[in-house]
Amino acid sequence: MRFPAEPFRIKVVEPLRRVSQEERERLILEAGLNIFAVPADSIYVDLLTDSGTSAMSDQQWAGMMLGDESYAGSKNFYHFEKTVREIFGFRHVIPTHQGRVAENLLFSTILKAGDVVPNNIHFDTTRANVQHQGAEAVDLVIDEGLVPASTHPFKGNLDPVKLDRLLTEKGACVPMVMLTVTNNSGGGQPVSMANVRAVREVCTRHQVPLIFDACRFAENCFFIQQREPGYANHSVESIAKELFSFGDGCTMSAKKDGLVNIGGFLALNDEDWAKRITNLLILIEGFPTYGGLAGRDLEAIARGLKEVLNEDYLAFRIGQVAHLGELLMNAGVPIVTPVGGHAVYVDAKRFLPDIPQSQFPGQALVVALYRDYGIRAVEVGSLMFAQPDASGTVQYPQLELVRLAVPRRVYTTEHMRYVAESVIEVFEHRDRLKGLRLTYEAPVLRHFTARLEEIAETEVGAAR
Ligand SMILES: *Cc1c(COP(=O)(O)O)cnc(C)c1O
Repeated sequence: MRFPAEPFRIKVVEPLRRVSQEERERLILEAGLNIFAVPADSIYVDLLTDSGTSAMSDQQWAGMMLGDESYAGSKNFYHFEKTVREIFGFRHVIPTHQGRVAENLLFSTILKAGDVVPNNIHFDTTRANVQHQGAEAVDLVIDEGLVPASTHPFKGNLDPVKLDRLLTEKGACVPMVMLTVTNNSGGGQPVSMANVRAVREVCTRHQVPLIFDACRFAENCFFIQQREPGYANHSVESIAKELFSFGDGCTMSAKKDGLVNIGGFLALNDEDWAKRITNLLILIEGFPTYGGLAGRDLEAIARGLKEVLNEDYLAFRIGQVAHLGELLMNAGVPIVTPVGGHAVYVDAKRFLPDIPQSQFPGQALVVALYRDYGIRAVEVGSLMFAQPDASGTVQYPQLELVRLAVPRRVYTTEHMRYVAESVIEVFEHRDRLKGLRLTYEAPVLRHFTARLEEIAETEVGAAR
């Protein structure tokens, strides 16, 4: 046993339905080989996402019963506000029903067409909300952050030299710099405190505010404690306070490190920004003391934000994900290293070198994991990102990954072992997997609704 066992016991159980091989085969065919179209109650281990899938604690459920559903001035709001101020340190706390609304409120108030927003790597909804204002989303992660086999301990770092260059050239068009902790789109990789300090220094020199995308702040701060010299004896909570002291605000999806199923917030120091955003909040989300949530939800978030900083929990959480990664690595399965905070990413290019990216090797692996084992993973590769350029030539993404995202406090280590054994079995018989082709695709975000079919053995030579 290389990491702590579950620091909780089970009080309520949600039975899982075991679905036969025949039923899974029928369901995945009916779904057009698209895992998004398979009903969740036909899945045994669901690793589609860690977002909104956490199990709440008895303390959180007890808090739900203390919900004060007053339209204005709910006591749960004050508890929520006090907790956010205590951990994040920002003055103005604006509740929203999830993270992307915090992004939308911030960007639609502050950005204008032609602006540029740098980030280590923008998460999908962040990028889309920046672009929705006619602004440009620029990724400035360090070079190691894009190399799957690099073992850099802080692959989420933003390159301060690239940032300085951008701000020198285009400073007037950059209303804010963002920093995502951990870097979700780069494999859940952490950002170091030294990097936060360096980014802050560049921002101060160019007089640009620094806003954190704080979704997985506790996981990031745990990595700082474990990996960064000088932090071994600091509590994760004190590391979080130090980290946010370098920022001017944050956006947050509480569906991640808030340990709840719905919720989010925006927290800011700037009075003028907060005022303008609050006016918009009232227009589209709700009154400032509930912002699209029920009083009971605010109570659950306030309690979740404290629980997520518990170091027994974090050691188990990060350890469980790392353990899944280790089981795979020990069997020779190619994965992104080091393992990130919330997910293991299988490198489908190296897993299925004989299936070209035009035949969706990542999706072929996703289909096999469901059909033969009842596991739901998600492709983060050519099905999600390949697009024709101006000349009509399809451009394939550099990374072809399959993400195994681990929900918080939901699955046991035995479930992780089942997942590892299943992936390893597919790996041992990988020559049986066939390439896929699209039979339907939507014009945008096609991976959600695409339909595919397997390419028959006899056609393979011709298709390649
Ligand atoms: C999930 C996520 C968001 C968006 O939050 P939602 O609650 O899904 O709207 C933004 N940034 C990052 C890094 C995320 O992981």
